[in-house]
Amino acid sequence: MYEVSREFEFSYTHRLWRYDGKCGNLHGHNGVVRVTLAQESLDESGLSVDFHQMKHTIESWVEENWDHKTILNSADPLLPILVKAGVDCVSVDSNPTSERFATLIYNQAQKMGLPVKSVDFWETSKCMARYCPNKKRSR
Ligand SMILES: [Zn+2]
Repeated sequence: MYEVSREFEFSYTHRLWRYDGKCGNLHGHNGVVRVTLAQESLDESGLSVDFHQMKHTIESWVEENWDHKTILNSADPLLPILVKAGVDCVSVDSNPTSERFATLIYNQAQKMGLPVKSVDFWETSKCMARYCPNKKRSR
C-alpha cells in the first residue's frame, strides 16, 4: 500500500452558532489541510497518485469554494445579514468545526474520484481534527 499526502492552506472566517465560548464570535483562521490518498500499486511513471492531480482537484476546489470566505452554519441568523451586506459567504449543514471541514473535504475528494484515506485539518498550529472513516472489511 502506498500513501501520498498533500498539504495546503486557506483563509476563512467562521463562528460556531449556539456555542458558549469564544468561538461563538466571528473570527478568522489560516486553516491547513492534509489530504492523504492510498493506492495499492504504482502507475507506469512510478507514481501512486500524482501530486499535481491533487493540486488541480481537491486543493483547487477548496481554494475556489472556501478561500477568503465566511463559512457559517446554514441555520446561523448572521448568514442572511452578511449576505445582504455583500460578504462572500458559504453555508454548511452544521457548525463549521474542524471536524466538519475534514469531513467535507474528504467527501469532496472522494466525489472527485481520488482514493482518499484521510483528511487532517488544522484550525491552528496546535489543534487538528482528522476524518478517516473505517472501511467495512470484506470477508
Ligand atoms: Zn475558529
